[in-house]
Amino acid sequence: MIVEHQVPLQPHNSFGIVARARELVRVRAEEDLRALLAEPGRAGQPTFVLGGGSNIVLTGDVKALVLKVEILGLRVVDDGPRATVVEAGAGVPWHELVTWTLDQGLPGLENLALIPGSVGASPVQNIGAYGVELQDRFESLDALHLATGQVFTLDATQCAFGYRDSVFKHAPAGGTGFGLAGQALILRVRFRLPKPWRPELSYLDLQRKAAETGIASPSARQIYDWVCAIRRAKLPDPAVIGNAGSFFKNPVVTAEQCRDIIARDPEIVHYPLPDGSFKLAAGWLIDACGWKGKTVGGAGVHERQALVLVNRGGASGGEVVTLARAIQESVYGRFGIRLEPEPVVV
Ligand SMILES: Cc1cc2nc3c(=O)[nH]c(=O)nc-3n(C[C@H](O)[C@H](O)[C@H](O)COP(=O)(O)OP(=O)(O)OC[C@H]3O[C@@H](n4cnc5c(N)ncnc54)[C@H](O)[C@@H]3O)c2cc1C
Repeated sequence: MIVEHQVPLQPHNSFGIVARARELVRVRAEEDLRALLAEPGRAGQPTFVLGGGSNIVLTGDVKALVLKVEILGLRVVDDGPRATVVEAGAGVPWHELVTWTLDQGLPGLENLALIPGSVGASPVQNIGAYGVELQDRFESLDALHLATGQVFTLDATQCAFGYRDSVFKHAPAGGTGFGLAGQALILRVRFRLPKPWRPELSYLDLQRKAAETGIASPSARQIYDWVCAIRRAKLPDPAVIGNAGSFFKNPVVTAEQCRDIIARDPEIVHYPLPDGSFKLAAGWLIDACGWKGKTVGGAGVHERQALVLVNRGGASGGEVVTLARAIQESVYGRFGIRLEPEPVVV
């Protein structure tokens, strides 16, 4: 296995931030990883697991050993009367998996089309879009514990999925003591695609597409095409302008807090949740504080999507973090709400 030194990370993060990895290893198989971790001097060495780099902010050169996940493979592992289970290697690009399942006549992931990044990172923040979250299609995953080299399997309950959250985002020493952040490398993920397939069209943008096209009962392929078209029109392409998608989670508040805010700002965009709480549109809050189009150093807030922070050219991770903090402070000052960032600051 080749250990590369002083590797430029700019091509490996969607923000396009300039940084280097002191040491980087491309992990193409579980055995490679085991062999590497068994090398003298590797035990206890800090590591950083890198997928597609579409949900990270690099604030400097990475001193930890970077494990760039490139494990491939796509296969059907079970085809029963109620669901088909497919398995994908952690290094498979997420959109490639979605396209492959549809090509196999296996619908279910179409609402998640075109999300950047790798299969292995998809459980980390329980990716979601257009009315579907990863947890709705998740079966199980295999991961390797980086300290012990042991491979273990987790089901959905053990992954503790939440809104853009899972066991992989919590530190082991956290309050609950169950976290696996930085402790494990996800090797492969299995997805359960239910039968019969039912379209998920609850999201307003998809209902608009159905009305525009006059297609009330779209096929999975049609929904996939709609989602791709909506995303291309709405979100800045990281290949053109560096970004990590939505920079903040949509905050969830109690009904009382929501009433309070509506009394002051009747226009606020809010969605009721089944448990009686409300989800607020973080982009609306940021826009209301006047941030759309603003710039701090090389980092800025996108002109059309206030939720997306961008690299206007030569931004450092520090500038992105400074801008994010300034936004958090002004949203807190005006609405009393703390915005939580989505990407991982490295
Ligand atoms: C334009 C754009 C649009 C986006 N839209 C959405 C969206 O609609 N919905 C959504 O949920 N997200 C969205 N994202 C965020 C991002 O695409 C997802 O979070 C994605 O899953 C990140 O995958 P990655 O491989 O790039 O992860 P990385 O950025 O490489 O890593 C993210 C985190 O996961 C960890 N990690 C990565 N791979 C593994 C592994 N194999 N095992 C263990 N840990 C791992 C890393 O250590 C890091 O902590 C968007 C991003 C962009 C740039």
